[in-house]
Amino acid sequence: MSDEVLALDGIRRSFKQAGATLDVLRGATATVRAGELVALVGPSGAGKSTLLHIAGLLERADAGEVRIAGTPVMKLGDGDRTALRRDKIGFVYQFHHLLPEFSAEENIVLPQMIAGVSRGQARQRAQELLGLVGLAQRASHRPAQLSGGEQQRVAIARALANRPKVLIADEPTGNLDLHTAESVFAMFKELVRGQAFGALVATHNLDLAHRMDRVLEMRDGLLVEQ
Ligand code: ADP
Ligand code: MG
Repeated sequence: MSDEVLALDGIRRSFKQAGATLDVLRGATATVRAGELVALVGPSGAGKSTLLHIAGLLERADAGEVRIAGTPVMKLGDGDRTALRRDKIGFVYQFHHLLPEFSAEENIVLPQMIAGVSRGQARQRAQELLGLVGLAQRASHRPAQLSGGEQQRVAIARALANRPKVLIADEPTGNLDLHTAESVFAMFKELVRGQAFGALVATHNLDLAHRMDRVLEMRDGLLVEQ
């Protein structure tokens, strides 16, 4: 499909644990399209993080294909994968991983400068993104001066800094109280709607998951559309 931003096709991944082989992913298959917010659910240990790391090109699958914005990655070397990850993928983790000694704005400026954007342009984009996540007034605050929900909003803005095609988030609200988690999820939905990127977000909050556009469940190493 032309508006596909992420495709996972028959993804397999096994780990050796205590002499035995654990088949975590057994042919996981799914597509995320532009403008879609897709939830990834399943019990702890089901393989959600493993799948997101493979989708985000942080790890390799044993078998299967990943396509990022139409580009198949399985045969790419490490350099090409790193470039594709930098240009097309944004990652958000459970803990914000913002740089503590830098302001919210600088945390969003830095990844852009690493990608070759001028400081002036990067600052303009950072201000625009901080506005989108409702933190225009917090640009000069350092992470420790922000609430948990605000920190995650900055982390999401940072993930979008280089205009990725795929936004991947691993339990981004797992560290937040329910009310804050709800507002962060609502913001995700607003951010993605009508945009050129799609998002795949792991959560164990089924209530929140079912308010997303689609829900994929990890079950026995496969993805089942609910
Ligand atoms: P989830 O995110 O759904 O909780 P994970 O993807 O983190 O699940 O883990 C799935 C399973 O794979 C777990 O049993 C975990 O112990 C195992 N696993 C994950 N990464 C590794 C690794 N690097 N080495 C060995 N086992 C791993
Ligand atoms: Mg996990």
